[in-house]
Amino acid sequence: MKHDDKLKFIDERLQQLKDDGVYRTLPVNYGPCDHVIDLNGKRTVNLSSNNYLGFANHPRVMKASQAAIEKYGVGAGSVRTIVGNQDLLEDLETLLAEFKEEEAVMAFQSGLNCNIGTIQAIVEKGDLIVSDALNHASIIDGVRLAKADKAVYKHCDMADLERILTERRDDYNQVLIITDGVFSMDGNLAPLPKIVELAEKFNCLTYVDDAHGSGVLGRSGRGTVDHFNLHGKIDFIIGTLSKAIGVIGGYVATKQNVKDWLLHRARPLLFSTALPPAATAATIESVKMLMESEAYTKQLWENAAYFKSAMRELGFDIGKSETPITPVMIGEEAKTMRFSKALLDKGVFVSGIVFPTVPKNTGRCRVMISAAHTKEDLDQAIQAFKEVGESLGVI
Ligand SMILES: *Cc1c(COP(=O)(O)O)cnc(C)c1O
Repeated sequence: MKHDDKLKFIDERLQQLKDDGVYRTLPVNYGPCDHVIDLNGKRTVNLSSNNYLGFANHPRVMKASQAAIEKYGVGAGSVRTIVGNQDLLEDLETLLAEFKEEEAVMAFQSGLNCNIGTIQAIVEKGDLIVSDALNHASIIDGVRLAKADKAVYKHCDMADLERILTERRDDYNQVLIITDGVFSMDGNLAPLPKIVELAEKFNCLTYVDDAHGSGVLGRSGRGTVDHFNLHGKIDFIIGTLSKAIGVIGGYVATKQNVKDWLLHRARPLLFSTALPPAATAATIESVKMLMESEAYTKQLWENAAYFKSAMRELGFDIGKSETPITPVMIGEEAKTMRFSKALLDKGVFVSGIVFPTVPKNTGRCRVMISAAHTKEDLDQAIQAFKEVGESLGVI
């Protein structure tokens, strides 16, 4: 049998994606992740990054990164538990603990690594994980790797969560409730005060993945927990350094004893090389900038308010977002992808998000607003949405 024949089943799967109108190729960005990018060789307004504050290519952050390369080189050289634990990582964790106003922080190579490492390290057989139905894929993977039993409550449905806890709490040792802080597909917030109340009533642990809340919500972007003023009430607060912070990495803010335990059991720390110094130094600078000034988060929210109000006026359904994430609802999968393509033809990049990332027939063009956008960028985007929306019969 030839190799080609053996892999024919992959061709068939790819053909199915093409038939469904959801087959993708990767666009290429020929420069930094800025508010306007050179996408496939064409000037394009970038409404699809998680670079909420424009830190990904901020001169101050870049300078800190360059200085770190001079001093530390480009690689950590090992996992942290051997010789990869450069002092920059210790500095980053101390700073993040101060920023988040929590006892201790453990940094990981990414948010995904953090979820995969942390969840399976803290629960075991005889424990139960109760997870929101729309939690991020990296939480789902972390939950799958854990040996605990699993239950899923309906998205943000506190009656359903209470039902599960009432029926099952007594059968387990630890029960861990896990939720996104901000749900990235709709931009809505988890009902954290109610989750905390139920966790206290049923003696459960709480875990909030605040990837899209950190750097966005709360004082100077301290996150969803700060927004709800729930400091000290959430046992594990996950953040990413790859979104608003603009670089790469993830972390859990928690208690010192949890950090000590993760050092012995979190597999990404034990079996994958530590963050490179250029990245660590850059994240330190970003966090310092956030702690120094609310100007960045303020600009982000102003831009979001401007864009959302114009889109509502045009008659678009922009869902139930409570954050700068703005899902422009289109519906059917192929139509959503056509909408996104038509925007791109007009020099505006908004990724189409469809099943299986979101439920069938809830396809959307998801706009990610950034503090780096200018009024001209936003106006160009609004005009493009108007023209495409009219031609495709969405408004
Ligand atoms: C983006 C995201 C992650 C992954 O973060 P990375 O640092 O990009 O790996 C994890 N959780 C949630 C909720 C996210 O939105």
